[in-house]
Amino acid sequence: MNLIPLPAFSDNYIWLLHHNGRALVVDPGDAQPVLDALASAGWVLDVILVTHHHPDHVGGVAALTAATSATVYGPAHEKMPPGVIPLTQGETLSWQGLEFEVIDVPGHTAGHIAYFGQPSDMAPVLFCGDTLFSGGCGRLFEGTPDQMLNSLEKLAGLPGATQVCCAHEYTLSNLKFARHIEPANLDLSAYESRCQDLRAQGLPTLPSHLDLELKINPFLRSRQPSVRASVQHRTPTPMDDADYFAALRQWKNDYR
Ligand code: ZN
Ligand code: FE
Repeated sequence: MNLIPLPAFSDNYIWLLHHNGRALVVDPGDAQPVLDALASAGWVLDVILVTHHHPDHVGGVAALTAATSATVYGPAHEKMPPGVIPLTQGETLSWQGLEFEVIDVPGHTAGHIAYFGQPSDMAPVLFCGDTLFSGGCGRLFEGTPDQMLNSLEKLAGLPGATQVCCAHEYTLSNLKFARHIEPANLDLSAYESRCQDLRAQGLPTLPSHLDLELKINPFLRSRQPSVRASVQHRTPTPMDDADYFAALRQWKNDYR
């Protein structure tokens, strides 16, 4: 089984898995990059997975279902295009012998889901849409900080080798903010220079890995003393776990 990010729009990735001439894609906001990839490799599209309702994730679904006989799965608690099979926490689907487990991750949107699978021939894969980014997390459009914190902690409990397949190339700007929060984090500065090299060559920084994200991503580290000290410095009031997370997310929104 092979995993490829197809660039779309200015900074989206449509993740594609292929095996034995068959393909699965995640969050096709645009059909064209998928149709081009299928045509040039001769793959048949079996499955489309959707994480949430935003147009940059579902915009290509109608054109792909018109052009192929793909089955589409998406979140049960969000408005989806017609024909999408609804899924929620704990439900599974199978493709090419690979079982995906659905994880509810509200926060960016109210019904956002993620898909986790463990292929027999490569590291586990997590399709997390706009919930977890490398070095960051999605904006809270519909959910609360408490929900997003819980969602991220569910993802943080997956195996460390998990390949984190985020839907956007936001890594460098996230890492700039992360370094502002944790200037003494050496894993972070080393990772940032690796990512700068990749982007200078026009390459994706993704997939990331969960064990790395746990070392560098301030939104997975909001309980760490170093992160808390930075937040307290800016917002010096007594705070609980969700308050720290909320203050960190607000800081990122304001950060330029
Ligand atoms: Zn989104
Ligand atoms: Fe998005």
